[in-house]
Amino acid sequence: MKAEKVWMDGKMVDWDKAQVHVCTHALHYGSGVFEGIRAYETEKGTAIFRLKEHIDRLYNSAKILKMEIPYSKEEFKQAVRNTIKENNLKSCYIRPLVYRGFEQLGVNPLKCPVNCAIAVWEWGAYLGEEAFKKGIRTKISSYARSYINSTSQKAKICGNYVNSIFAKMEAIEEGVDEAILLDTQGYVTEGSGENLFWVRNGVIYTTPTATVLEGITRDAVIKVAQDMGYQVQEKRTGRDELYISDELFFTGTAAEVTPIREIDNYQIGEGKCGPVTENIQKKFFAIVKGEEEKYLSWLDYI
Ligand code: PMP
Repeated sequence: MKAEKVWMDGKMVDWDKAQVHVCTHALHYGSGVFEGIRAYETEKGTAIFRLKEHIDRLYNSAKILKMEIPYSKEEFKQAVRNTIKENNLKSCYIRPLVYRGFEQLGVNPLKCPVNCAIAVWEWGAYLGEEAFKKGIRTKISSYARSYINSTSQKAKICGNYVNSIFAKMEAIEEGVDEAILLDTQGYVTEGSGENLFWVRNGVIYTTPTATVLEGITRDAVIKVAQDMGYQVQEKRTGRDELYISDELFFTGTAAEVTPIREIDNYQIGEGKCGPVTENIQKKFFAIVKGEEEKYLSWLDYI
């Protein structure tokens, strides 16, 4: 994972020189917010998927953590486009980061400067290329998703991801690909970095957003599935409903639309990508590649 240049506080910096001081507040306390965005190669050039929504979420995350980003949203979006151009990438993953820098190292972040960076790099299938057809193996994590009043679920805060890291490490060490976390009451939430959907009797379900990140892919999949004629419902449920679902899949910028073939050693459906998931996955990839007229407004050509 490497590219040529990183955008840091308004300047393009060589990849190897894009560094921070060890006393950066965010490094000690997780006081930063970030985004994960993808740009895809299309017939009309590189297009960023739902850039506006990602930048809106970044600014909302920063607001929740009381950080004022010293750029307008338009300037930030232009910096994202410029960083991709500067690196000559046709398709890439984009990681904007807004973080508390160094001034003092008490827990109080309010005196520390707000620094910004944008890194981009080539990144293929997050859970492996063959996962799109075969599906992945998951387990219910022994770690609960952070309690709703312990941190913010709406904000994509760096420190929140320690919860995801524990769940992911446990899953990998137990020989599966990804974790599914329950909330502190035992209701299903999401993966370590993905929203969760399941299908029962032709109806598509997903968890309500109170206890999960408001995923932009989740939102896209709900709209697209409804346009395709599927009924989509938000539902609080326990792990047992997942065990008896016909299909199960993750959505996310990194994970895109990834089928789940197993959870806690229960096989889901036929143990491969199910028909509803496949329909949605095909549509999703056509949309991001600019092949669907109806959803062209989701693409930002650089
Ligand atoms: N949940 C979590 C915890 C995540 O980190 C992500 C990735 N941003 C998602 C869901 C999916 O969100 P999106 O579709 O906006 O990438």
